[in-house]
Amino acid sequence: MPSFVIAEKCDGCKAQDKTACQYICPNDLMTLNRDLMKAYNQEPDQCWECYNCVKICPQQAIEVRGYADFVPLGGNVIPMRGSDSIMWTIKFRNGKLKRFKFPIRTTPEGSIDPYAGKPEANLDNIKKPGYFTHQGEGKEMPVITQK
Ligand code: SF4
Ligand code: SF4
Repeated sequence: MPSFVIAEKCDGCKAQDKTACQYICPNDLMTLNRDLMKAYNQEPDQCWECYNCVKICPQQAIEVRGYADFVPLGGNVIPMRGSDSIMWTIKFRNGKLKRFKFPIRTTPEGSIDPYAGKPEANLDNIKKPGYFTHQGEGKEMPVITQK
């Protein structure tokens, strides 16, 4: 069930260096036709159906479509990403729609400080092995060895 770009909706992320779908795909499948300014999945067989590209596309131009031989034509699952939740719309083959909202975070967007409570980085140690959370004055950094 690979991702599928709806060409009429895709604007090629307005010709930025890397499109949103290229940036997010964990399998590096999305590519951009620069002549047409349309993205497409260059290797559908390798798609993991992770929906990352579907969720990030600012134009809602991507769907994950099931192959017709085992998923009834006309059914689809569309996520709409908000700042704190995703609204999923499920469309059944008979046209029936179901929607559910799934929370994706409990803190306001942009409020996380990943270095809060961590020591200042010691640049003298930058080329040594070890974790920056273990560095400090007079303290040996642990050396990681492989067995
Ligand atoms: S993220 Fe959406 S609009 Fe941007 S290139 Fe990909 S399919 Fe097109
Ligand atoms: S569904 Fe996931 S694996 Fe497939 S193209 Fe989109 S981001 Fe890549």
